[in-house]
Amino acid sequence: MEKNKYKLIGDYHTHTIYSRNGHGKGTIRENVEEAIKKGLEEIYITDHGPGHFLFGIKRKKLPEIRRTIDALNEEYNGKIKIYLGVEANVVDYNGKYDLRNEDLKYFDVVNLGYHSGVVLKNLKSYFIYHILNSLGRFNKKLEKYCIEKNTDAIIKIIEEKDITIITHPGDKVKVDIKRLAKVCKENNTLLEINNHHPHLSVDEIKEAIPSGVNFSLGSDAHKPEKVGIVDQAIKRVEKAGLDINRIKNLKEVK
Ligand SMILES: [Zn+2]
Ligand SMILES: [Zn+2]
Repeated sequence: MEKNKYKLIGDYHTHTIYSRNGHGKGTIRENVEEAIKKGLEEIYITDHGPGHFLFGIKRKKLPEIRRTIDALNEEYNGKIKIYLGVEANVVDYNGKYDLRNEDLKYFDVVNLGYHSGVVLKNLKSYFIYHILNSLGRFNKKLEKYCIEKNTDAIIKIIEEKDITIITHPGDKVKVDIKRLAKVCKENNTLLEINNHHPHLSVDEIKEAIPSGVNFSLGSDAHKPEKVGIVDQAIKRVEKAGLDINRIKNLKEVK
């Protein structure tokens, strides 16, 4: 990668202390100030959804987070635009996420991904996520079944809700990238190339390309100094031969 060949416009995936139990290290202000220092024009604050039983955001904190972001947007007006987002969780294989309708008024953007440590809504979902996906590593037929179920659940949410970005697709559990990419394209949802996790991988990016879907890069920073760092993701972009114009938050420097 040539230095300064690309400019990251915004970091669309960052965590703060509102990802509980010490999971996120920085305050919203610290993430924002780091983003400004790195020359970003936008930042999404996307703490873990409330369904994550260890790290999830507390619903009652949402008004406070909204106020903090509104105040920082005023303070840094013209320097950076801060978006309040969330990294929602798939919590049910019937296609449900961990947000309620009344939560949505707080968010500018909603990211969605699979995570372990989530309280799944029923025994069937628990069984597929934890048991079958694990056993699937040793049995091709079962793995295929799991990929289908994992993909069905997330696709149903994309079709029914307004989802901005699917975070690290293929991490935690496998999904059918081609089918997911097609639905994301139709629903104007971006597929993330995550810097902190190895997904999308080079092969997965290649699988997604023919669908015409667009992409985003995310640092998935859990501490302020990681905000805006996407070097690993860019390496995968280059290896996969992905057209930079299809990445919403990256520009080529001419
Ligand atoms: Zn995540
Ligand atoms: Zn994350």
